[in-house]
Amino acid sequence: MADYNVIVIGAGPAGYVAAIRCAQLGMKTACVDKWINSEGQASLGGTCLNVGCIPSKALLDSSHHYYFMQKQAATHGIQCDNVTMDITTMQARKAEVVKTLTQGIAGLFKKNKITSIAGTAKLADNKQVIVTGIDGQTISADNIIIATGSTPVQIPIAKFDNEFILDSTGALDIDKVPERLGVIGAGAIGLELGSVWSRLGSQVTILEALPEFLAMADRKIATLAQRELKKQGLTINLNAQVTSVTVANDEVTISYSDQQLVVDKLIVAVGRKPHTDNLAAAEIGIQLDERGFIQVDEQRQTAVAGIYAIGDVIGGPMLAHKGSEEGVMVAELIAGQKSEMSYATVPFVVYTHPEIAWVGKTEQQLKSAEIEYKVGQFPFAASGRARANGDINGMVRVIADAKTDNILGVHIFGTNASELITEAVVAMELEASAEDLARTIHAHPTLAEALHEAALGVDGRMIHA
Ligand code: FAD
Ligand code: NAD
Repeated sequence: MADYNVIVIGAGPAGYVAAIRCAQLGMKTACVDKWINSEGQASLGGTCLNVGCIPSKALLDSSHHYYFMQKQAATHGIQCDNVTMDITTMQARKAEVVKTLTQGIAGLFKKNKITSIAGTAKLADNKQVIVTGIDGQTISADNIIIATGSTPVQIPIAKFDNEFILDSTGALDIDKVPERLGVIGAGAIGLELGSVWSRLGSQVTILEALPEFLAMADRKIATLAQRELKKQGLTINLNAQVTSVTVANDEVTISYSDQQLVVDKLIVAVGRKPHTDNLAAAEIGIQLDERGFIQVDEQRQTAVAGIYAIGDVIGGPMLAHKGSEEGVMVAELIAGQKSEMSYATVPFVVYTHPEIAWVGKTEQQLKSAEIEYKVGQFPFAASGRARANGDINGMVRVIADAKTDNILGVHIFGTNASELITEAVVAMELEASAEDLARTIHAHPTLAEALHEAALGVDGRMIHA
């Protein structure tokens, strides 16, 4: 008999959620994770809690307060002379937030009677897992869920040294505001961490290889966001082909598209790759694609029966909430329940200020699929609540099918877009029409009224614009 019903490998947002759901469903569950924090202690939560979503949002929040006090507080009558920023305190606060939340996962494991095993897992035949490290042991299970996540992509001409050339983890740990900061990649990490250090005083230049800014986003929203970020002081150079990076005399020189950029530190944020090092997945018959992502079927089962994979390691949107939902689905499938998740309604958010958020299709995708659509769009400048808040940048765009009126996509650039987008996700999950949203009563005054107005706009009947 196997030691466990389920062993989960990896305690990031995919793995720890899967483990909790398995335990809730009555399965004897163990979760193996190898993360060791800077204090030498095992730390659950994976990339997201330790060096991803959470610490980056802590720094975004701190840097936003600083920016607000310097640039915007005076308009509220608040005089903030000689505002200073203590980076050590900011970083200590970030570390505390991370510690509280990672310990919280350990508490949840205890509550759910999940065996938490600290160490590196290697797969062996017959669903055995060999763990080396703090809690070294060999264990077996009826089912295994692989949730080993991803790591930053390194480009050969700019190898990480985490002193001058930083990956996202190094970029979260900078202890002194660099005068000049370069970033390769204008994706979510480049824009978020670029914003943090720009708000704190760095001269930030972002080099993006593609000709379009945020190519995945709605074009109107991307254009507005690009313009606003430029106003905030971020230089974003598109079509930038980086050809060489050299470090000398405490400076980094980047050659790109016949130009040169000299900075004090360089962040490389060009994507993440699946993490299967030393897992021996291929050796036991699990198939990987040419980029190293574990291949799974619709039920997220690998080529080996009873071994599943979820989260960043299988590709798709590399987002915490996508991995968590896959964790829930796989746990329920293992328990014999019917379960599925809807990839069409995974929300995307970039936590700049204002935030960029979307769900569903963009106009450009609908055009190329030759689907007829109608658009309603409402600017936050016409929202009473946005005016009262003093934050009027951006707009909401609702895109609906021209024939059925079903909502096909919602795109937002605005304060709290990360929260507002959930209304659109729920609407789309329930296959709502723009008319359904338009007939839904929204509290006044709220930013969500902009979504209501944009839904009215699909039928040309906005009230406040
Ligand atoms: P991970 O979180 O990477 O966790 C995998 C875990 O498996 C790790 O703890 C690892 O140590 C462990 N592991 C790996 N191999 C083994 C092994 N052999 N044995 C034992 N343990 C192993 N996403 C969002 O949705 N919103 C955001 O705001 C956001 N911000 C981000 C900001 C930054 C700076 C970064 C880097 C990422 C951000 N992401 C964000 C992405 C998000 O962090 C990932 O999509 C998410 O963490 C993936 O979850 P996962 O569980 O698949 O893998
Ligand atoms: P990304 O894929 O979001 O963006 C990488 C960017 O780098 C792209 O725009 C790409 O065109 C560009 N690029 C690639 N190679 C380049 C090169 N050689 N020169 C110049 N530009 C180049 O990746 P990321 O920003 O590193 O983030 C990694 C993952 O983490 C993403 O999948 C992202 O979804 C996730 N993440 C999400 C959030 C969020 O949800 N808010 C925040 C941070 C990270």
